[in-house]
Amino acid sequence: MSTPPPPHQPPVGHPAYASAPYPPQAGPAPALTCQVCGAAPAAPVTVRGHQGMIVIMRNLRRQGVFCRICGLAVFREMQANTMLLGWWSPLSVLITAAVLLMNLGARSALLSLPQPTAWGGRPPLDPGKPVMKRPAGMIALVPLSLLGLLVVAAPVLMVVGAVSGDSDPQPLTVGSCARNDGSWSDQDLKTVPCGSTDAQFEVTNPGPTGCEEGDLLASLEYSEAGTTSLCLRPLK
Ligand SMILES: [Zn+2]
Repeated sequence: MSTPPPPHQPPVGHPAYASAPYPPQAGPAPALTCQVCGAAPAAPVTVRGHQGMIVIMRNLRRQGVFCRICGLAVFREMQANTMLLGWWSPLSVLITAAVLLMNLGARSALLSLPQPTAWGGRPPLDPGKPVMKRPAGMIALVPLSLLGLLVVAAPVLMVVGAVSGDSDPQPLTVGSCARNDGSWSDQDLKTVPCGSTDAQFEVTNPGPTGCEEGDLLASLEYSEAGTTSLCLRPLK
């Protein structure tokens, strides 16, 4: 606990004040002052938090006018708590990731504030260590990296799925026409309109003695049951 600094004196020894110029206050006083310590400049900031608890979830929100130092303290506290308590239900994982991201916006708004130039007479909050240097930040690295992996992996899996789904053979129906985009050992047969220039074969059922002379055999996977080979009669 730090002792309150006397009014209009910079608190001595506080690391956050190292670069605070003092006493620079000339010109009109800024309109907003920090609601915690009274220092200026200050800006309205909303910091969010989230707790996931297996079945129930809790969304937290702290809205206020903060100076850079107090705002950073609020941000770091909420961010660290969310990193510890945010992950504990399936939906919470996504909400927590979104909350953590949104808070980065609040953080950059705070960091764009200059160091306080007018002190309000009350002690500012202690910002403490950066979030990622706290145990919470290290713990959160695990779900965060897993999420990151998922984000990277999801499009890859979708592409793989699309590519492999594309080669899933669609059964041919007798009487329809087909074309082969593959080789004969690795067929890629597709149904096409019989009148079109794409049509290469008419699909027929094999007779009792098999396909007629000149017919080609479609691979087993192209028949409805997957057990009999359909005949492909060249349309030429
Ligand atoms: Zn403050």
